[in-house]
Amino acid sequence: MYPKIKRRPTRKVWVGNVSVGGDSPIRVQSMTNTSTTDLSATLSQIQKLVEAGCEIVRVAIPDEKAVNALKDVVKESPIPVIADLHFATSLGEKAVKAGCAGIRINPGTFKNKANLERLLKVCKDYNCCVRIGINAGSLEPEILKKYKTPSYRAMVESALRWVEYVVEKIDYYNLKVSLKSSNWWETVKAYLAFSKKSDFPLHVGVTEAGGLIPGTIKNTMAISYLLLRGIGDTLRVSLTGDPTEEVYVAYEILRNLGLRALHPEIIACPTCGRCEIDLSSLYQKVETWAKKVKADIKLAVMGCVVNGPGEAKMADVGIAGGKGVGVIFREGKIVKKVPEKTLLDEFFKEVEAFLQAHPER
Ligand code: SF4
Repeated sequence: MYPKIKRRPTRKVWVGNVSVGGDSPIRVQSMTNTSTTDLSATLSQIQKLVEAGCEIVRVAIPDEKAVNALKDVVKESPIPVIADLHFATSLGEKAVKAGCAGIRINPGTFKNKANLERLLKVCKDYNCCVRIGINAGSLEPEILKKYKTPSYRAMVESALRWVEYVVEKIDYYNLKVSLKSSNWWETVKAYLAFSKKSDFPLHVGVTEAGGLIPGTIKNTMAISYLLLRGIGDTLRVSLTGDPTEEVYVAYEILRNLGLRALHPEIIACPTCGRCEIDLSSLYQKVETWAKKVKADIKLAVMGCVVNGPGEAKMADVGIAGGKGVGVIFREGKIVKKVPEKTLLDEFFKEVEAFLQAHPER
């Protein structure tokens, strides 16, 4: 049913109480897009992300105000918080001391290496996980000078240099690495090459991927390509817009690779001229409901008798539409035929009954 995937052996590291790499599940993370200083908006977004299945959340720390707010974010967040830092190492030290479980640093944006070394030592003292986040758009000048363009080889050299630096100079191993470009194939090549040379866990994803449709496609291409080859220990689907969508897309990718399932899977037909019920609106309602449910079940929402009964039978609970009516299947058997206006309510009743009968799902 799903491809057989052998995960690349990696070290296990810890972001607070969440393990990444080794035999840990592939972790789903996201990033808030609120101002970190707006505590109520940030915590409310973190709560929505958690409900969607996010396991680690990153917040931006652009200035002193943000780092001062971080302590409260960390205290109230139900999942580990990572501070995202660029340019100023002093903010990084304060973020680590404020209790963040991890920091993401982009070495290309830190000019003063002595300060960066001090920050990394503070991370070691606090066992704060460090992500070396290489980004094609902000590579160090000396690497760019050598490679002329921010190619995948340039990203890999930068990442390897920094891993070696942290391991050898700081003697610190609570590390993960990302090598992101806005070009999905360049991103893939960077991860493939890096993974041959290092066993630190990899945070995979495509950066600056765009909105829901183009961003989902770019991320899915790169992340799936890598996961199919066993590469990737945690992922972020970067999308412009509501970050909870990033989490739903991440779980869709993981489910379709047979790696993790969190929310119900919905099989639905595209509808066509044969359809005689309002299937699109039915589907939307089922999808909205399914996003709030954490259960590994399969639902089918089908328009007519052509493929409807077949798919509905194979689902845990399914609908096959007819003329102003719907037939509801549960575990392969017809349980009801109901008029369209009560179809959704009756469908949900059957789903609830199925979930009660199968609490393990
Ligand atoms: Fe059309 Fe029926 Fe197929 Fe849906 S199941 S696309 S309504 S033929």
